[in-house]
Amino acid sequence: MILSGIAIFGFFSYAGIISLLEREGRASSNFFTLGLVVSAIYILIGISNFSYKEVVSIILFSFIALLFLIFILPIRTNKRISSDSPHGKIDERDTMFSRNELKKDTNNYIEYYKSQPENESIDNTIKDNPGLLSPSSGNYDKLMFSSSKASFFTIDALKLKVNGNVSSEKVILDKNDISKYIKNWTKKLGALNVGFTELRDYHKYSYRGRGEYYGNEVTMDHSFAIAFTVEMDFDAVKSGPLGPIVMESAQQYLESGAIAVQLAEFIRQLGYPARAHIDGNYEVVCPLVAKDAGLGEIGRMGLLMTPSLGPRVRIAVVTTDLPLNVDKPANEPSVIDFCTNCKKCAVNCPSNAISYNDREDINGVIRWQINQESCFDFWTKSGTDCGRCMSVCPYSHPDNLLHNIVRFGIKNSSIFSRLALYFDDAIYGKNPTVKKPADWMSIS
Ligand code: SF4
Ligand code: SF4
Repeated sequence: MILSGIAIFGFFSYAGIISLLEREGRASSNFFTLGLVVSAIYILIGISNFSYKEVVSIILFSFIALLFLIFILPIRTNKRISSDSPHGKIDERDTMFSRNELKKDTNNYIEYYKSQPENESIDNTIKDNPGLLSPSSGNYDKLMFSSSKASFFTIDALKLKVNGNVSSEKVILDKNDISKYIKNWTKKLGALNVGFTELRDYHKYSYRGRGEYYGNEVTMDHSFAIAFTVEMDFDAVKSGPLGPIVMESAQQYLESGAIAVQLAEFIRQLGYPARAHIDGNYEVVCPLVAKDAGLGEIGRMGLLMTPSLGPRVRIAVVTTDLPLNVDKPANEPSVIDFCTNCKKCAVNCPSNAISYNDREDINGVIRWQINQESCFDFWTKSGTDCGRCMSVCPYSHPDNLLHNIVRFGIKNSSIFSRLALYFDDAIYGKNPTVKKPADWMSIS
């Protein structure tokens, strides 16, 4: 009993220290308190001498053994995966970014709302809001918004480089070797994870909806896609919807965009067509490509949920004709199961944009879909891209031993998954606090 008490104290102290390093004050004190109380019970019973000591000891040992069995036994009660493919393609002109760029009395405006009249009123209401990165928005901060604008300015330069000339000398390559090379090099450039898939019709937008390419039909017919993720900084995400979140989003769009542009040029140098798909210049729907490339599942908040960082990533894609060894889709039922019970993103969303309901059939696929108008309405009032859903998601915790133990248990066992959800609420709170921006950012 005494040794068990010491081991329990050691584990909770470790969890408390990790939380302290993650600037999770509430979690840290909860872990230390829990460690002290539970280990004290075990140690006191170990050193005392009362009549039912053996019975109580057996009960306490059984409790530890039960928890261990729940963690280790692979019990998955529900395999709720939908492996269907969407019917048809998404028109980029229907996305909020595209609709928000439409100016009254222009041809694009008149034509779009003639075909989608139900969107006009809500879109005009949103356009009356201050807008993303606007000085009159709720979370305006001169330095943070200027930093974000600087990142978007640099992305604008990259947008011109997504395509290029293909070398006339085609290098004949072994599919295994070049697949391995690309995965390793992309990670070396800063990607977290990389996957390959055949490019399918539903991955592609039907029509472009942004900038000078507005209304152009997407005719790109590459055979393969390389999808990769980059990590978003934990502290910045935790401060959403304050300024650091939009700084970090912009910066990671830039980092992923630079890698994609570099990778596409590398493939063209080898004599194969390739195009980078980066922020504001996409011909594909990145989360759909990334899912089929085995990088994760689509969760309740409609974002890609990756195994090690959940939704706390940004995605970019390169499409090409270079033959690659494709990966299998993740088809991970534990994520769908966890999201079905969790709903923490829906509870914390400031605009009620995330559904509390079970998944629905949307365009031939059983999935969740957020209300993009409500979400964008909040963004254009906040001035930032919010990220509160990403910030509170239990999958967003850092990639370290403590959280990876929990991730293993969630993937392994449906019963542990329920327990983990309960503990996440108890330790971090049902409505975790918004982290203050780091001191060095707060000088305005
Ligand atoms: S917060 Fe919960 S419900 Fe929302 S995406 Fe994350 S795990 Fe799923
Ligand atoms: S980004 Fe914010 S407003 Fe949009 S769905 Fe997530 S929590 Fe809701």
